[in-house]
Amino acid sequence: MKVFFLNIPFLHRFTRESRSPGVAPSGTLYYPIYLALAAGLVRQRGYTIDFLDAPAEGYDLKQTEDRVAKFGPDLIVATTVTASVAHDIRVMDHLAKQTGAMTMLVGTHPTALPIETLKASPSLDFVAVGEYDFTVLELVRHFDSGKTRQQLHEVAGLAYRSGEEFILNERRPWHENLDEIPWASLIYRDFLKIEHYSYGAQLHPEVTIVSGRGCPYQCTFCVFPQTITGQRYRPRSVRDVVDEMEFIQKTWPQNKEIMFEDDTLTVDKTRMRELSEEILRRGLKVTWSGNARADFDDVELLKLMKKAGCRLFCVGFESSDQKILDEMRKGGATIGIRERFVRACAEAGIMIHGCFLFGGVRETRETMRATLEMAKRMKLDTAQFFPIMVYPGTRAYEEAKREGELVTENYETWLRGSGYYVSQVCRGQLSAEEISAFTDRAYREFYLRPAFIWQKIRQFFVSPSERSRIILGFFFFLKKVFTRDK
Ligand code: SF4
Repeated sequence: MKVFFLNIPFLHRFTRESRSPGVAPSGTLYYPIYLALAAGLVRQRGYTIDFLDAPAEGYDLKQTEDRVAKFGPDLIVATTVTASVAHDIRVMDHLAKQTGAMTMLVGTHPTALPIETLKASPSLDFVAVGEYDFTVLELVRHFDSGKTRQQLHEVAGLAYRSGEEFILNERRPWHENLDEIPWASLIYRDFLKIEHYSYGAQLHPEVTIVSGRGCPYQCTFCVFPQTITGQRYRPRSVRDVVDEMEFIQKTWPQNKEIMFEDDTLTVDKTRMRELSEEILRRGLKVTWSGNARADFDDVELLKLMKKAGCRLFCVGFESSDQKILDEMRKGGATIGIRERFVRACAEAGIMIHGCFLFGGVRETRETMRATLEMAKRMKLDTAQFFPIMVYPGTRAYEEAKREGELVTENYETWLRGSGYYVSQVCRGQLSAEEISAFTDRAYREFYLRPAFIWQKIRQFFVSPSERSRIILGFFFFLKKVFTRDK
């Protein structure tokens, strides 16, 4: 069996594998991490693969089709999300007709709506529900061992069509031993160019990996834990993670940073201590960042992490209003503990990229304004402002639908033409348009403040390693401000 893993061509710098898929105003382009992990597993078990990240490589449909046809796969596996699913199904349809290969969609959207996704195209063969590495592997083994479509009920986590019927198999349990899955960076080395990828907050170039999957918190809007990673943190061993960090540093001497795209890297504080100590014990000179939750203020631990190379945390503050946070079930990270976390990070010398959401339940013009003013007061390195995105598969989506606050279920309008985010909910007197417009305004107000501009000029001269990121960020900020459909 030959398997082609594909990140489908779509808009320039369109990210699928993010908790907020789209074209990011910061120019951020995520690695297709989970697709790479599945590809690595299938390759390790002896199957021939090809891997193409079309939005990163700048491939159009024709170039993609040529590459797929040249490889001649038996199966094409592609990741999809709500904002691109209609387009992605059309492309898979086209590739199936051109190559005769079987097709499979994986990711957040098919997990939430497997049968609806299958029904959208008669040439789409399979959908994976939930975590998909072993579902893809088992499907490949199934056909490789000579089993038939009539026996597909044996493949957990699979949805498929059988004649006129659509079958949804039992769900696959979350995989516990993540060390068994080959490093994503092995696929990056063989198929990707790290210079294509960037995060607004990270040094460039950077390599993104996950050291664990899942998040035990219950934020209603957060799509990954509710679909493909799970609501329990499943870490890889510290040894395996630091081995991969060493591999990355040796493979790409030009790499400036490793980003941990775990849903929440800092869930387990004991593990964070062990990870930092292992990096220091090996004498590994590495700069790293990760997603953190603002729910601790242990300065001694933060200083240890800083000493081990931690440069920055991406933190979801979301709102300044405790009632809105409670509605989002952002409980635990209360306003008080968040302020202590920010002070502790400043004392330890770790920077913060703050994330804020507009349009949560109970949002008003006043609460949006208060959140923006709080963001300006906080000592942040950078910030991002999103309209809340409610994806199928999340409680936020179900709530908005139930309350009549979801303004569209036409996924083709889930983003603006440019790929930037747009609100799909209204809240009380706030229309979806007003929420989106305030998000744009927040970007301009935050980044065009004299204090912020001065902070970046100073950083540009004092910290040479930050320069390329500052220039890139400035370029993408201008692009966002001057894009017509903003
Ligand atoms: S803490 Fe972060 S990763 Fe976890 S559910 Fe909430 S938003 Fe998602």
